[in-house]
Amino acid sequence: MSTALIIVGHGSTLNPDSSTPTHAHADEIRRRGIFDEVWCAFWKEEPSMREILYMVESSTVFIVPNFISEGYFTREVLPRELQLEGPVTQIRGKTVYYCDPVGIHRGMTRLLLKRADQVAANVPRDQTTLIIVGHGTSLNEQSRKAIESQVEFIREGRHGFAEVLDAYMEEAPFVAKWHEMSNARNVVVVPFFIADGLHSYQDIPVLLGLEAAPTVAASQNDVFRHNPHELHGRSLYYSSAIGTEELMADVILDQVEDCRNRHGLPSMTPSGSIEHPLSRSEFTIGQIRISPLHDGSWAMHHVEDTQKTAALTLFYSPIDARAISLYDDSGGFRKLKTAPSLRHGWRLELGSDDDLALALNFFYPAALGLWRHWQNRSLNPVHLRETLGRQTGMYRFSNAISDEQAQRMIVCECDPETHCLRRITWRLNSEQPLAELPPEKLPPDKFSEDSVPLICVEACTHVVSVARELARKAAGGTASTSAP
Ligand code: SF4
Repeated sequence: MSTALIIVGHGSTLNPDSSTPTHAHADEIRRRGIFDEVWCAFWKEEPSMREILYMVESSTVFIVPNFISEGYFTREVLPRELQLEGPVTQIRGKTVYYCDPVGIHRGMTRLLLKRADQVAANVPRDQTTLIIVGHGTSLNEQSRKAIESQVEFIREGRHGFAEVLDAYMEEAPFVAKWHEMSNARNVVVVPFFIADGLHSYQDIPVLLGLEAAPTVAASQNDVFRHNPHELHGRSLYYSSAIGTEELMADVILDQVEDCRNRHGLPSMTPSGSIEHPLSRSEFTIGQIRISPLHDGSWAMHHVEDTQKTAALTLFYSPIDARAISLYDDSGGFRKLKTAPSLRHGWRLELGSDDDLALALNFFYPAALGLWRHWQNRSLNPVHLRETLGRQTGMYRFSNAISDEQAQRMIVCECDPETHCLRRITWRLNSEQPLAELPPEKLPPDKFSEDSVPLICVEACTHVVSVARELARKAAGGTASTSAP
């Protein structure tokens, strides 16, 4: 029995740091060799939850939400997007087990204690107030519950802190009042968030009084590295989000273990039966040219760099592919992996088919799986009206756009010269095709060994966001930024 783990995160179309911890935990679990496959999927990044099962070869799949609490996302969005019917779902010949989100696991206590000790090393716990911070508001009721539970666990565990408190950004007790609610000389603040997103590196530092105004991205921000901050007669230690803690990989595995025990499944060992259907010949995918080398390894580079081999910077790990794919030549964040803006100037040499498949899935998530299913006629494209019609929350208005608006939107937002290299397999609805798409936007009639086209199986989150904006404008609403 081959087994896959899929870690599902929120992701972001604006913040490159948002998905970093999810990928880091996947890298660590992959390194341990427990599963035949380890992949990530995201709500706001690629691969999407609808694409991920096209990537997976294994017959048994565990899905762990990398979310801090149960709620709207874990109970509604993830099951809907992953097409789950309950704790166990049979889908496309696979048995899929849906595990609990990481944030509610009892093991989070261990991470909080470790993080507090790291950020305030050698500071006596009995002279320290530990504050665990969440978002708050009625929209995040379950997240408050998860934090309150952790506060109770640490208090009951008698771990020696002078005080353990919960605090929130948008409801009482407010984190902005940290100096009024705490009594110890030292105060350690740990954000109970999955990633260093806007809340932990911009909003909370302002509420704590560490910054006068929101600052730059976490990856360039020193607020976590300049501890302690002397404020209000206290030494304040501020940590990065708890989800960035490396032991989160163990919590993810603990959730799989709990799920396995609940369903009476045997312990796992990799079957070694997963093979990547790659022919050993040169081929192009998107903007990448891939060549087999004589010793069984592979080399890849930007298609436009073929004549510049000597001038290219060499990389050797599939994980380097993720870093290369993040930014374009001018340093801009590439929110769509299939945008025609892949960075130049690199050459990646990879020792095995496994490494090549992993690197390709960082550059073009799910591309090989989608192409294989298209060739086998087992791809199920989802028409635009169906995609827009199933949206909930802030995106529920997206299906209010007219057919004409939708046609124009696709021509513009999916333009292969400027926006996206994927070829569209879906229609406006089951009766109406998409009008005016150029041939390079449609799947090729013939299959070629030399070229793997990038396939779009349904409208992406970017297009859904644009549809929402158009619908709001047409209804006379105020346009706002598209996606977090
Ligand atoms: S919907 Fe358009 S922009 Fe989005 S992935 Fe598909 S082709 Fe690309």
